[in-house]
Amino acid sequence: MITGRTVVAGVAGNPVAHSLSPLIHNAWLQAAGIDGIYVPFAPEADRFDRFVDGLRGGAIRGLNVTIPFKEVALSVADEVSVRARGAAAANLLVFDADGRVTADNTDGIGLLAAFRVQAPGFDPTAAPVAILGAGGAARGAASALLLAGCPEVRIVNRTLARAEAVAGALHGQVFAYPIGAAGEAFAGVGAVINATSAGLSGQGELEAPLEATPETAVVMDMVYKPLETPFLAQGRKLGRRTVDGLEMLIRQAIPSFETFFGRTPPGEVDVRALALKTLEG
Ligand code: NAP
Repeated sequence: MITGRTVVAGVAGNPVAHSLSPLIHNAWLQAAGIDGIYVPFAPEADRFDRFVDGLRGGAIRGLNVTIPFKEVALSVADEVSVRARGAAAANLLVFDADGRVTADNTDGIGLLAAFRVQAPGFDPTAAPVAILGAGGAARGAASALLLAGCPEVRIVNRTLARAEAVAGALHGQVFAYPIGAAGEAFAGVGAVINATSAGLSGQGELEAPLEATPETAVVMDMVYKPLETPFLAQGRKLGRRTVDGLEMLIRQAIPSFETFFGRTPPGEVDVRALALKTLEG
């Protein structure tokens, strides 16, 4: 039921039809009985700035931002949070009534919360963490881990120059490794995170020597389609604890929902089960 008081939020991506965010947020809205709605938008790839200008002044309360707009979302904002600056990307834009736009990034919150849920006791301050990939997701994860007190982050990437660029852009102990030296990068880590797009249905598999990780290491994959990627399956086979990308997706949505609608999502709706049904369908 749309009323004169309905609060509108949404997600912008291109393509956006596959996004699980409308399913998650609208399920929470319905369960909480909130007068609000969450809608998908697919602005043209080179017109994101104009799209955002059209929303200034509070046409909608806020917007999640996904591929390919996470980086450009920073440049359209009047204010940028420490988290978004560290990640060099935003996944959340908030529109104030006076026309100002604030950029934030909740992916790091989602990542760490997913570890707390699926690998309880994991301590990001206890040991180095290795991250595979050097795109926006990898940089966001590295930045969030450093902010959480991680003593060392190792960026492992197929294209070494990109790993070096991420390492050079972040403050702290961040080191770049070519993919051929992954075994070296995995030694003594508390966790290994796949932040490449490999493992995503149809994107090729990732060769990672997970046997080089300590037995206590947690293996995490940001890819969630399929939910159990070959990377996670390999980690599980070796007896490592695993954390999946769907948990991260759901956990990054919580602070966004709180920002848009002013309250914590209701616990009684199982959005993970709903999302899994959609992923399997
Ligand atoms: P991106 O900027 O396109 O970066 C992709 C990275 O993957 C690059 O480092 C690339 O290496 C590497 N790569 C791709 N195919 C590879 C292969 N076959 N072998 C080895 N490396 C390969 O992507 P992104 O925005 O950072 O996103 C990365 C992934 O994280 C995506 O699948 C995205 O959906 C996922 N993600 C999930 C969540 C969540 O909430 N679960 C949140 C954010 C992102 P090169 O540099 O050598 O090309």
